[in-house]
Amino acid sequence: MKKKTNILLIYTGGTIGMVKDYKTGALKAFNFEELVKNIPELKQLDCNLRGVSFDDPIDSSNMNPHYWSVIASIIEEHYHDNDGFVVLHGSDTMSYSASALSFMLENLEKPVIFTGSQLPIGDLRTDAKENLITSIEIAALQKRGKPVLQEVGLYFEYKLYRANRTTKINAEHFEAFDSLNYPPLVESGVHLKVHQNYLIKKVTKNKSLRVHKKMDNRVAILKLFPGINQNVLQSVLEIPDLKALILETYGAGNAPMDEWFLNAIKKAVENGLHIINVTQCSGGSVFMGHYETSEKLKEMQLVNGKDITTEAAITKAMYLLGTGVPDKLFKTIFETPLRGEMV
Ligand code: ASP
Repeated sequence: MKKKTNILLIYTGGTIGMVKDYKTGALKAFNFEELVKNIPELKQLDCNLRGVSFDDPIDSSNMNPHYWSVIASIIEEHYHDNDGFVVLHGSDTMSYSASALSFMLENLEKPVIFTGSQLPIGDLRTDAKENLITSIEIAALQKRGKPVLQEVGLYFEYKLYRANRTTKINAEHFEAFDSLNYPPLVESGVHLKVHQNYLIKKVTKNKSLRVHKKMDNRVAILKLFPGINQNVLQSVLEIPDLKALILETYGAGNAPMDEWFLNAIKKAVENGLHIINVTQCSGGSVFMGHYETSEKLKEMQLVNGKDITTEAAITKAMYLLGTGVPDKLFKTIFETPLRGEMV
């Protein structure tokens, strides 16, 4: 007889598990037992479900690297007893957390699926049920006794994406996420359609899970805009002890050619700041040298963020700095895809 799969639900908070405070009208988190009570359908699933909850579930706007390491520790502790994990998380910062976890969990051979909802579970029109039930079904998929999915995914509104390729694109629509530079891994219709070709292929088998819990937050993001003034740039570049800066540039990685701008960037790079060139477009890639406006950045040895999302870039920087990557290797390693987050 086929063995039932064990799936662990990790409840961190977010709208999916919130109720309305009738006095103030604001949404606030409630506990995990209540959440499961609200979805009796969970009992019909053909897998053993267990749950672990944050002591105090949070709105994901309060998410931070400490909580990421709590999620990573829960997965580590329960890794051998479970076939898959579903992380219930607020949608606001879900792409950051899911990207962070993709880096923190090295040699992952089991599915870790982040999901949440736009409407609370108790709401008549809630999207929480479908998101949660299908996430569990995907986490439970097995082929020849092995999990079909062996990476961190994000499931929302009928699509499972590679987590570190996603961005929250809409604050109201049920289709709240997109992955413009990588196709969905699984689509849910009458059947679950798994796109095998897009899944991460494990080249090194039987390496045990390594969990990296140290994330170094000496990082910043600066989005360029026409009219950015020298003081703004200067004050960011001079943040004491800053190690890495995600520079959100225009289009294919382009930036102004003003002398003050280029000189400030050049000096910061020479002083050891890792500046990562990421496009502020939602889709497409940095291509330094394609235009005159990015040639100098290439010459200055800016790190090429290629088609990475800002969410994946900032968490990758935190992860690499946290693992103590030597300064000399930072650029080369950053430009190498580690978990399918870039080309
Ligand atoms: N503010 C909520 C959160 O991110 C929104 C949601 O869950 O969708 O926690």
